Amino acid sequence: MTSVAELIRRTAEAEMMSAGRTAPRVPGHRRPIVLQSTGASSCDSKLADDPWAVDRDPGYGPGASAADGVPSSAPRQGPLSERYTGASDEQLDRWILAAKETLGDRVQILGHFYQRDEIVKYADFVGDSFMLAQAAKQHPEAETFVFCGVHFMAETADILSGTEQAVVLPNLAAGCSMADMATIDQVEQCWRELVVAFAVGAEGAGPGSAEGLQPVIPVTYMNSSAAIKAFCGRNGGIVCTSSNARTVLEWAFARGQRVVFFPDQHLGRNTAKEMGISEEQMPLWRPHLPLGGNTIEQLSDARVILWNGFCSVHKRFTVAQIERARAEHPGVRVIVHPECPAAVVEAADGAGSTEYIRQQVEAAEPGQVLAIGTEINLVNRLQQQRPDLTIFCLDPVVCPCSTMYRIHPAYLAWTLESLVAGSVPNRITVDGAVAAESRVALERMLAAKP
Ligand code: 13P
Ligand code: SF4
Repeated sequence: MTSVAELIRRTAEAEMMSAGRTAPRVPGHRRPIVLQSTGASSCDSKLADDPWAVDRDPGYGPGASAADGVPSSAPRQGPLSERYTGASDEQLDRWILAAKETLGDRVQILGHFYQRDEIVKYADFVGDSFMLAQAAKQHPEAETFVFCGVHFMAETADILSGTEQAVVLPNLAAGCSMADMATIDQVEQCWRELVVAFAVGAEGAGPGSAEGLQPVIPVTYMNSSAAIKAFCGRNGGIVCTSSNARTVLEWAFARGQRVVFFPDQHLGRNTAKEMGISEEQMPLWRPHLPLGGNTIEQLSDARVILWNGFCSVHKRFTVAQIERARAEHPGVRVIVHPECPAAVVEAADGAGSTEYIRQQVEAAEPGQVLAIGTEINLVNRLQQQRPDLTIFCLDPVVCPCSTMYRIHPAYLAWTLESLVAGSVPNRITVDGAVAAESRVALERMLAAKP
């Protein structure tokens, strides 16, 4: 099976050739490209470039997040030495395996399901963001976690692991465009406005009213900065992931009249809809507008106030893609991630976290056809693991999570060899006070029961 990296290289080259442009010189270390029609196109031909070619560009670089704004405070990766950028795949492989052997149990490599296969093959543990958060707590013997995921996941691992344990992100440019759609300043401003709105708002909406419930409980998706998790911790709130969002919302409604949900509007809306909350009771909070663009009445009537954030990968999925899959593959089972828009989740046969999707594939009967609405690296790997099934991505365009994609074996080799040499590169450290308050919100999540 062709890896996503190779598929992107082939499609990018084919796109350039058909546009009459010369394909970029293929650096010596790459495997030869087999020029053939793949039937797919990629969302940006720059995806075929190695990450160090785009790491220092302003913005997120190629891929699904290309159009998103990157905050000026986002960490940038420094240049990677020629030893790594000029190395062949085989050299990188040898160096990574040798360093892993030397480091032994002192280092745990954690990988998210969306990582490229070229990284996943070295991971000691692969999982969804909830499982990875738990994994960071479960290895007190490890001195270092090399986190092959994105920045907010590494921050969470640092918060949940021991103070002596280091968490390292091999490429600092591996952020998350959705997480960056809510800054702590915007969230604090929203909160101040909500406190005033509920104090002067409709009868029964004030603090301490309605059977001792708080007027509003802040809930943040794991895909958010540690500062926002800390904000939730100190304001009676909680964190959720896509695998426990419903349990967490139930936890919040046992304590508050309403929820303000950061930063993914789609996960918030899909979960609330599943709980029977109507669209009218879910106003959208647009951070640049007074009261988020709402009236005090709309906010008072709300059950879930949704932050206006989204995932650039998952917003690409459409109902039309599902209809096409059903027309072309009668009997197809459609499974999507809850970061997809509500209409897509409703049209699908099932929705859940990356681990839920993995489990659905594992449980499928031989011969079944599955159309999946999530990131392409995971979809392709699931097909590799179950060759007796037909599995395809709903989105015909090859568009990986471009920030996750920044973790390339060259960065992993550099990280591990630095650890062998006794230095800790790219350490992700969450400041003590922020870590303590975030831990409160994270521990509430880990303790929340269905
Ligand atoms: P999971 O929690 O399902 O792993 O999803 C994380 C994520 O970032 C999806 O875009
Ligand atoms: Fe963030 Fe979307 Fe990538 Fe997940 S897939 S890490 S939400 S940009």
